Amino acid sequence: MRVVYVKAPFNFEIREVKMPEPGENQVLLDVRACAVCGTDMHTVATDADYFQSFGHEIAGVVVKNGPGCHRFKEGDKVIIESGTFCHTCDNCRNGRVDLCTNGISIIDDVEISGYADYMLVPEQAMVPFDGLDFKEAALAEPLGVAMDLFYTTGIELNDDVAVIGLGPIGLMAIALAKAAGARNIYAIQRNRKSKARIELAKKLGATDVIYTSEMKMEHYPFPRGGVNKIMITAAPTVIPDAMKITLYGSVIGFLGIDNQNGMISFDANEFHFKKLQLRGSYAVPALWFPRALELLKSKVVDPKDFITQEFPLEKIEEYFCKQRDDISDVIKMVMVKM
Ligand SMILES: [Zn+2]
Ligand SMILES: [Zn+2]
Repeated sequence: MRVVYVKAPFNFEIREVKMPEPGENQVLLDVRACAVCGTDMHTVATDADYFQSFGHEIAGVVVKNGPGCHRFKEGDKVIIESGTFCHTCDNCRNGRVDLCTNGISIIDDVEISGYADYMLVPEQAMVPFDGLDFKEAALAEPLGVAMDLFYTTGIELNDDVAVIGLGPIGLMAIALAKAAGARNIYAIQRNRKSKARIELAKKLGATDVIYTSEMKMEHYPFPRGGVNKIMITAAPTVIPDAMKITLYGSVIGFLGIDNQNGMISFDANEFHFKKLQLRGSYAVPALWFPRALELLKSKVVDPKDFITQEFPLEKIEEYFCKQRDDISDVIKMVMVKM
């Protein structure tokens, strides 16, 4: 079987390795689809100073149970939680599995790769599905991330919402806000380069698109003078600007990383006098997969809107370079077994 490793920025090595044997509580999975995440692009661009395997938005078929596994049988279709909770720590037992930090993580385990023919998966992280293609089901993982942001921000009926950053997560957040009955949804993006993503934002119900390279978001003529909920999927530097478009009592949900510099500064007096709330969203452990699958099936988030490219494992380098060089027609790429 083959496994993809990153050996230098945007430089991959496809290695032939021995088919692994599932150990205790592990299942051997035939990987049928692995969607390309922004995190993967980041891994490939910057962390590639040693051999690393990667890929965590995975759907596949059960091949073989290891000792102690009985929930699934050969041929079952499953998706994989990128991280799960432990069931035994105090937070889990107190009903806050979302705050568990003891669970197994697929992302942190560099031996685990979705960009492979087969992989070993902890049985505990497997969620069964039906009624979707593998590539469609793989989108449950990023949708779970968007759902975490949506719930963290607390979107409600009639909210005026801004979504900053139109990657797949931001776009899914727009779809969720629309489904939840938001009144206006403003899609905010730096520039017009991501054409397909901007078009999709409009199709999903964005009232308007604001380009921050052309206009400061605070200068946009919001009918009520601002918005009351903001979902950010962008670098931390947008937070101070986002605060300027808030109404009294607004909530800002934030999901974003800047590995170079996570420091920001903002006017805490304004924060106080405007009664703002800034909330961090972090979908670890990964939750909501059964609900995400239902939302994909019912097309509240239509997978067909999101998947723009499919490629086989051996073409991984070509497609990652394409996403780096020209994002105009890329919303979500998925590696599929053809
Ligand atoms: Zn991801
Ligand atoms: Zn726990």
